[in-house]
Amino acid sequence: MKTEIRHTLVKYPGGGYDGCTWEWNFFYVDADGEFHCIEATGHAGCDTTEKADAMLSLEANTPIDGYDGPPIHTYDVVDTMQVEAFAKESNAVHVLDVFNWFMGNDVDEDLFDFFMICTECGERITEDGEGELEGWHGCGGIELTADALLCQECHSRGVCYDCGEYVGQSGFEFEQDVDNCSEVIQSQLIGWIEDDGPVCEDCWTNERDSLIAAEQQELLSLSLATGTPDLFGDDMRWFWAV
Ligand SMILES: [Zn+2]
Ligand SMILES: [Zn+2]
Repeated sequence: MKTEIRHTLVKYPGGGYDGCTWEWNFFYVDADGEFHCIEATGHAGCDTTEKADAMLSLEANTPIDGYDGPPIHTYDVVDTMQVEAFAKESNAVHVLDVFNWFMGNDVDEDLFDFFMICTECGERITEDGEGELEGWHGCGGIELTADALLCQECHSRGVCYDCGEYVGQSGFEFEQDVDNCSEVIQSQLIGWIEDDGPVCEDCWTNERDSLIAAEQQELLSLSLATGTPDLFGDDMRWFWAV
């Protein structure tokens, strides 16, 4: 490469789609000045040394195709502060893509250890396969993006204990939807969550409904066997309402 930069990750706007946010692309210039394309998916993506040189020679304030932010961000990957800055100011999906690229390509591996930062606890994620993307949502068109990149520990604390779906550490707001539950069932549900961790809405609703069904079955047996509660009284109104 013509440029003097070494062991540097370069983030630049590779282009975008109508209705979508700007799409960042990435390349790496190794310790010997060799160009490595990491991601060049945009229409202005740099997949050759020549295009990368042209991108790097742009003036700091040169607008690119209507994009008015700083066109190029460079991160010296030997400097952990700069890797940290990249991990914090970039989209979670891109951070994982770049991390995976460094894991899969043995470039300058004796020089630095690339890492990511867990969105939840702020700890470094250094091992291959240890980062989990969560908080998926659309970003225009058919594109999807994720807001969070979690370490294994934070991720496991936020999955539904019943089905494994990620719900976040505080889980589903289980306090609601208990209007038709007896106090016994309400406290059973609260105890269930406290003992076992967060659950998703579906699993919570299933648990609530099966507790209600079991309680009603028990009341019906009691009513039929002992006359208490009265089969025609308020406590058994549900039986006739079906
Ligand atoms: Zn974490
Ligand atoms: Zn679940």
